[in-house]
Amino acid sequence: MLRMTEHANEKTMLTKNERLILESLSQAETPQSAYDLLDSVRDQGIRAPAQVYRALSGLMSKHLIHRIDSSNTYLCCQKPSHEHPNAICLAICDECQQVTELDGVRIGDQLEEYAKASGFESKLTSVELRGLCAKCH
Ligand SMILES: [Zn+2]
Ligand SMILES: [Zn+2]
Repeated sequence: MLRMTEHANEKTMLTKNERLILESLSQAETPQSAYDLLDSVRDQGIRAPAQVYRALSGLMSKHLIHRIDSSNTYLCCQKPSHEHPNAICLAICDECQQVTELDGVRIGDQLEEYAKASGFESKLTSVELRGLCAKCH
């Protein structure tokens, strides 16, 4: 079994459904819910929500997409390769729904430090900023 660590290599190892979902997400202008995605890939043979969720979780574990927890939607990773894949920092515009992925390295390191200090082993740091993007304020 091959172990791939880079984004580019991971892309070639996607399942058919993962590829379809990733493609559909990359064409969407705003973050999509699992049901939005199901609607857009239905014609291509994905019919069950479970298939969508499986593909989404595969893509998330490869850091190709992220979930916005506060709205339960998904978007493509905007960083071609994460220096610190365990810290994801998303700035979400409440007006136009555009999301900008910010550099999460420093905040991730800091939160990991806090976690370690209390004996907590963190696996994923996800920070969501809500507000207005440059175009909307
Ligand atoms: Zn990312
Ligand atoms: Zn905006």
